Formats: sequence, structure tokens, C-alpha cells
Amino acid sequence: MKNYLLLLVLAVAFISCQKPCKSDHQVEVANITDARIEATILSLTKTYANADAEIIQRGVKHAASLWRNVDGTEADFQAFCETHFVADAAKKELMFDKVSRNLEILYGHFNKISLDLQRPLHEPMGDIIDIDKAFGGFSAGSHLTADLYRNKLAFNIALNFPYYTLTEKEQNAATWSRQEWAYARMGDVFTARIPAEILQNVSEVGSASEMYIANYNIYMGQLVDDNMKTYFPEDMVLLSHWNLRDEIKSHYSKGTEGVELQAMVYEVMKRIISQTIPNDVVNNGDYQWNPYTNETYKDGQKVELESESFERYQQIINNFHAMREMDAYSPLNTAVKRAFAGGMEITQADAEKLFVEFMSSDELKQVGELIKQRLGRDLKPWDIWYDGFKARSSIDEDALNKITRSRYPNAKALDDDLANLLLKLGFTKEKANFLAERIDVDPARGSGHAWGASMKGETAHLRTRIPETGMDYKGYNIAIHEFGHNVEQTISLYDVDYYMLNGVPNTAFTEALAFIFQKRDLELLDMKNNNPEKDALQTLDNFWSTYEIMGVSLLDQRMWKWLYANPDATAEQLKVAVEGIALDIWNEFYAPVFGVKDQPILAIYSHMINSPIYLSNYAFGHLIQFQVEQYLKTADFAPEVERLFKIGSITPNAWMQAGLGEDISIVSIIEEAGKAATQITSK
Ligand SMILES: [Zn+2]
Repeated sequence: MKNYLLLLVLAVAFISCQKPCKSDHQVEVANITDARIEATILSLTKTYANADAEIIQRGVKHAASLWRNVDGTEADFQAFCETHFVADAAKKELMFDKVSRNLEILYGHFNKISLDLQRPLHEPMGDIIDIDKAFGGFSAGSHLTADLYRNKLAFNIALNFPYYTLTEKEQNAATWSRQEWAYARMGDVFTARIPAEILQNVSEVGSASEMYIANYNIYMGQLVDDNMKTYFPEDMVLLSHWNLRDEIKSHYSKGTEGVELQAMVYEVMKRIISQTIPNDVVNNGDYQWNPYTNETYKDGQKVELESESFERYQQIINNFHAMREMDAYSPLNTAVKRAFAGGMEITQADAEKLFVEFMSSDELKQVGELIKQRLGRDLKPWDIWYDGFKARSSIDEDALNKITRSRYPNAKALDDDLANLLLKLGFTKEKANFLAERIDVDPARGSGHAWGASMKGETAHLRTRIPETGMDYKGYNIAIHEFGHNVEQTISLYDVDYYMLNGVPNTAFTEALAFIFQKRDLELLDMKNNNPEKDALQTLDNFWSTYEIMGVSLLDQRMWKWLYANPDATAEQLKVAVEGIALDIWNEFYAPVFGVKDQPILAIYSHMINSPIYLSNYAFGHLIQFQVEQYLKTADFAPEVERLFKIGSITPNAWMQAGLGEDISIVSIIEEAGKAATQITSK
């Protein structure tokens, strides 16, 4: 449903610039009755007696679900279907080829326009002035969806290439030909026609939540204990929750003193979750605050401040109400279904089942025990963010810098070396050249990224920051990660048999290849990896972060289910519910490992407020990435990379079956973590 989401984004952008002409705007309502749908189906089945009746029904119903009074009367709709339905298989294939070609032209060029307009922002092309930012934020393709409904191409495509639900896709996965898959993906281009006002509202409410989170800073230098002692640097300001979490992570090497600092950060988090945090210590450095007692001071004098009063939960409720408005217009009639069956293409029930199974595994206790040993203390709730499994290389970074600086003094040097790097990874000379010719290395202003093409004939871009003195090792390491993305982007565009199937099911698949490239960075510098525990540590690191993200994802899922069951809840009621769900999840899945009960920590994630129903993507990302990495460890690397990324964007489960011969699963990550824990413990 990737294309559908793209169109949704384009549609949102479209409305924002359409506002002024709203006055002459006719109210759009669905106007095709069931009786008219039946009559149209009857007429088509009569005319095309040999056609597949199921296809006719599906197409007419789908087109009718998108048709509005502004598109024509009921009779117009029937006449449109009678004129445009294509029964003959050869003619349908011809139409499919032409639509594919044209969508590639549209998506490909709009992508290129964005890339080129944003070039001054991403590459060092002199000073950035206001006009660069305005052009960079301009979306030339934002009217596309509305135009395709207006000129009725959308109805023609929806009628002949109707939508299949996730369940239908999965049921057909074993028997569908590649062409049938491609037809089904074309059916995902127009799935729901949501009124502009509703999309506009979702976008406005979403932006307000973004702003709420973006301005949620804690002045760490103002935190005090009972003796008015401060612990953090005076000018330290941390954004919730990412910076607060990273602050906890950064103190693992600091012994008892580190634990004190971590404990104080955790007190702050608990005050945010319970909303007892004083309103005026958020984004404001005027007051000193003791997060343990919740007392506040101004110039050493105690003052009373109001607490935040549930704004955090009000933001969630606002998003819920805005997103629920879309329900009536979508075949996926809840926000939860749209996020899971629609966006992720995994059902919420399947996700919940898998996460619960993972979080019940005995290996978590084994790894928890290992962390306890390594820390030399009992586990604290914030050890869900334990980061001591990061494998440090014993090769001196200065020596590595020397090599990368001399090999890659500028972007062109890396660009010239891409084919060579691919040869080292085992690609044939022909394939290495093919890929290298389609990947351009550009100097970046920021830390860099990989931007793929959306049409054949265009190149993918590897943006990397190279200082005057040449590329340092850290930059090189990231560039190799981005190169992995570019290779996937190029294979999954150029080598996939149907344009409608280009790409991968979701970002987890592209991240997997990026990390596999990144892991081989020393090999590509003709050096040996020197840490014999590196693999085991990486497995444990991945396993422990999967545990953490699955807990917060489960909370997110259960909170949304609760919202749908309690649509009129107040912010305060939601707060009580979220705290209750967080404690239940903690007590069931974390207390047995941590040896401490009733901790609300899982409710601190900012994503719950500014990225509704998104967290589970990360949890699946971990699993899929682990499985793909495991598979490629023993596979003939280059040919398997080519084979896997040619599969294209079928559903995640179908991709895993076609690629690895197994479903998305928790089995191998649990097994490998158990082995790794044994290996590290017995040392
Ligand atoms: Zn990446």
C-alpha cells in the first residue's frame, strides 16, 4: 500500500494550498446506491458473459466506493463502467502496461523534481537563502491525486484493477503469478477517497502534536535533590524522550555515580507520564525542580507551580478524533487497521501475538542475568535501555581515519571506487559496473542519506559529508550503510519485473541490507575484524532492544484499542488507562526479568503522541532485519542479495516466504540470543 500512502501524503499537501478556493467548492458525497451497483454488475456480466464475474463485481464495487456526486450521477457511473470495463485479457494487459509506464513517468519525475529542488539544501551549493527553503518545501506533485479523480483516470484504474485486502493478498500469495501480484498492487493506488477537510484536520492536529513534542525540553542543570545539589551541566537541555533516554544510556560506564544520574532522569520520566510535572519546568529554565519531591524553587525560594494537567494525553485524544473521522471513507475502517493491515501489511492481532510470545521467552531472563553480572548490580527499570552490548573495535580509530582520508579525499574518489567495493563483496564485474553507474556520490551538508530513484534511467544518490581533510572513519562507516540502501534501491527498481512491484515491502528490508554492508566496512578497507565476540554482542544488543521496543509497541496497540472502546474518554481517563496498561505489560513481561514490579516506564515514548500507531514498525524492523541478516550470513552473498531484492514490494510475509522460505518469526532471534548469552557468560 506504499503508493496509496504516497497519494495520501500528496493529497494532504494538495489541500493546504487549495484553501483559498474553498468558497466555490461543492460538498462531495458518495452517491452510488447498492441497487445501481447491482444493475451495473448485471449489465457488465451480460455484455461480457465469458469474463470472470468475481472481477466485475470487485471492480464495480471498488469504483463505486470512490465515486462522488461531483463526478456525475448514478447513470453516469453506470455508463462509465460500461464504457471502460476491459474484459479481454490481452487488452487488459496492454492497459496495465500503459498505466504502469505512465505512473513510473509521474512518480519518477515528481521524485526527481523534489530531489533537484532540494539539492541546495542537501549539497554544499553556497549560502541557503529563504527562497531555497520555500522551493525545498514545495511539492509539485501535490495535485496529482485530485487531478486523477477529476479526469476520471482513477475510476478507470480502480474499475479494472480493483483493491484486494491484506487477507486476500495473503490467501492468494501462494498461487498468484507475478502479473497477478502486480495487478493487485495497482489496486492499491486508489483505495480510499477521504474528504479534503478530514485530511486537512488530521494534518493540522498531527502538526500540533509534533510541536508539542518538539518543545518538550527539560532543563537538566535546574534539577536538584533534597540538599539542593545539582547533578547535570548547567546548560544541559534535553528533549523528551529521546535525549532523556540517551542521557541514561551515556551513564553506563560511570559506576555508582552513573546510577544516581540515571535514577534522577527516571524520576523526570515518571513525572511526565503521570503529568504531575510542573507546567513551568517544561521548556523553561527559570525554576529549580526536585523531581523526587516535586518541589520547585525560584532563586532558592520555594514556589508553588501548577502541574501539566494531562496535555500529553489530550494530544493523543485529538489525534484519535481526527483519525477516526477517516473511518467511514476507508475500506480499512479503523485507524488501527489502516496502520497495520494498510501501512505495515501485518494485522494487529498477528503483531500482538508475536510480541507476546517474544516477551514471554525464557532467554530474556538469561540475558537479564548476564546484564546484571556485567553491571554488578540488580536491574533497574531503565535498564530496558542497557547499551553495554555495543562491540567496541580494538583497532585504533586514528589509524582507520588515516586510511579512509587517503582513500577518499572527496566524493568523487568514493564514486570512482563503488564498482571496486561491489567486486570485493562478490558481485560480478558486469553487475558491479551496472550498479555503480546507477549510484552517484554527492557531497552532503548534513550527515548524509541515500535517496533512491523512482524511475528507470535515473540514478540513486549517496550523500556523504567529507571534510576538507578527507573522509574520516565515522563518515565512511555511515557512507557504507547508505551505499547498502542505494544498492537495494537500484536492484529493486531496475531488476524487478513489474514497475508496480518495485521496492521492498517496508523499510525493515532496506535497513537489513544497509546494516549488512555497514558491518563489512573493515573488510572493504582490506582489514580484519578483530573482536571474536562481535557477532554475539550484536545479537544480544538486537535482542535486548527488540524486547524494549516490543513492550512500548504493545502499549501503543492496547492504548488504541482502548480508545476505540472508549471514544468519549477525557484526557484524564486516558492517562489512567495508559498507566494501567503500562503497569500490566510491565508486570507480565518485565517484572519477572527485572525483579521489580509496577513500573510505568514503557509509557514515556514520544512516538505515542507525535507518530500515532507507528511504534510496531520498529519492532517488526528488528525481527525482519535479524532474519535477513541471519540468512545472508551463510548464503552466497552477492547472488542472494540480487535474488532477494528482485522480489519487490509484495506483502512482508509473502516476501519472507519467497526470499527466505519462512514467515516473519521470533524463533531464530531467541535461539541465537540464547547461544550468544551462553558464549559471553562462559568467557
Ligand atoms: Zn538506514
